[in-house]
Amino acid sequence: MGFGDRGGRGAPRGGRGGFSGGRGGSNLGRGGSRGGKPGFGGDRGGFSGGGRGRGGDRGRGMSRGGGRGAPRGRGAPRGGRGAPRGGASGGRGGGAAKVILEPHRHAGVFIAKGAKESLLVTKNLVPGESVYGERRISIESAGGADGSEKIKTEYRVWNPFRSKLAAGILGGLDDIYIAPGKKVLYLGAASGTSVSHVADVVGPEGTVYAVEFSHRSGRDLINMAKKRTNVIPIIEDARHPNKYRMLVGMVDVVFADVAQPDQARIIALNAHHFLKNEGHIVISIKASCIDSTAPAEVVFASEVKKMQAEMIKPHEQLTLEPYERDHAMVIGSYIRHT
Ligand code: SAM
Repeated sequence: MGFGDRGGRGAPRGGRGGFSGGRGGSNLGRGGSRGGKPGFGGDRGGFSGGGRGRGGDRGRGMSRGGGRGAPRGRGAPRGGRGAPRGGASGGRGGGAAKVILEPHRHAGVFIAKGAKESLLVTKNLVPGESVYGERRISIESAGGADGSEKIKTEYRVWNPFRSKLAAGILGGLDDIYIAPGKKVLYLGAASGTSVSHVADVVGPEGTVYAVEFSHRSGRDLINMAKKRTNVIPIIEDARHPNKYRMLVGMVDVVFADVAQPDQARIIALNAHHFLKNEGHIVISIKASCIDSTAPAEVVFASEVKKMQAEMIKPHEQLTLEPYERDHAMVIGSYIRHT
């Protein structure tokens, strides 16, 4: 479980390494099931529905994994804070199942709770449109006692099997630092699937600078950004931040999902160029991309060390089971001046 494995109790399920004392896992699970049956959200995005989904733990052992239980644990919404509750008939042709919307504890992220399952969702910046075929859920506000109008708001289902950030949120990350109004430099944007949700989260006041070097994926990314105007697509190699320095201002967060052996260097280079002092990095580490022969924990630890040498102070680590195998998310602070 990486460094500072002071977790304890939840070890069999806890995917959390601790830099300053892990919290351990919990038998309550942190929100993962494989979401088998397509419910109101369809797809495989359900995380409280039971189900066969992709089946079990695929023989991986759960020692590093996030739990698969009900969404009661850390990934669950706290609700209550002025939740925009309302009913909804969710998505395409999905009948009229009652869905309640609650804010997740991460600002800009929500949970749509149906009778059978709960789904992670983001508020659609471009109502009426899906980006990659994901389901949309329209929620109607209750309307005021004073007779004020009901308002419909549309949300998009965020599937943790297709987005490491979503998997990390359901795994119970303490803070993703990506929130309304934030500026995010996203390295490894691919065709923009997750980027589109990050764009929803930061909202119209925020900006996502999305870097992707594959021209094929870049085409989809550019198309997505035509309507999501808070996304600046940059088709460049993230190893050369100088090439896009004119496009990117100082950012609050560098998010990286490049799956490259030299990713620590790529992240550090970009942080040195664009990340504000005391900003944050949020990275996905795919162990096999860095060293397919070493145990995943060893790879995670060595990546963390590389980042520590670059003014990045990691403070949270979480593995992404059951959504991804041998992946970890690491969150750190960037301290330019000591
Ligand atoms: N984050 C994406 C999502 O959730 O939809 C998936 C990212 S995928 C794992 C990694 C992406 O990083 C690929 O699209 C790849 O082309 C891109 N990539 C890898 N190395 C890169 C580099 N040096 N510069 C820019 N993009 C890079």
